[in-house]
Amino acid sequence: MTTDLTVPVSGVSRQAGELEVAVSVPAPADIGVPLIGIPEGEPIELDFRLSALDEGVLVQGPISATAVGQCSRCLRELTLPMHEQIAELVFYPERQDELIAEGDEEAEDLPVVVDDAVDLEPLIRDALVLSMPLSPLCRPDCPGLCPECGERWDDLPDDHKHEFLDPRFSALDALAEQLMAEEAKAEDEAGEPRA
Ligand SMILES: [Zn+2]
Ligand SMILES: [Zn+2]
Repeated sequence: MTTDLTVPVSGVSRQAGELEVAVSVPAPADIGVPLIGIPEGEPIELDFRLSALDEGVLVQGPISATAVGQCSRCLRELTLPMHEQIAELVFYPERQDELIAEGDEEAEDLPVVVDDAVDLEPLIRDALVLSMPLSPLCRPDCPGLCPECGERWDDLPDDHKHEFLDPRFSALDALAEQLMAEEAKAEDEAGEPRA
């Protein structure tokens, strides 16, 4: 699915124009980080004001969406309401050209007005993705999983624990005990007075 989030700004005068864009748009694909993201097609609410300035179009306003992800400790599904603020200047292409000519090395990557339109998608994407937690938690004190059995601590009794009976170690322990017993016996025999 492709979501067209370009807004024509030819009606916005370069002197003093303003444009309100208050809409709900379906989320484009891949707005997220590995453990959390906005499911494709879920609504993103935006209430932007586009203002024409000398250098470009200033896009500002709130953006809201609900991210869905997984708790990084207990792996439970979680939802995270997101409310961010955008304030981004989208440059006119001729202004970008000037900046590049002036030697501004970062000017190549600036958002620009293309064909008299502003593409909101990269702005929305940056505003949301940069605010997403890399290690989301279902709650701040989530205890996570028991490292032995992988069950959630929340689902386990308070006194849950595992006895460490690794068969390899118990075999070694038995061998060690046997050797020590044999040594003791040999010493006993050696220490006995000869008849
Ligand atoms: Zn959790
Ligand atoms: Zn366990």
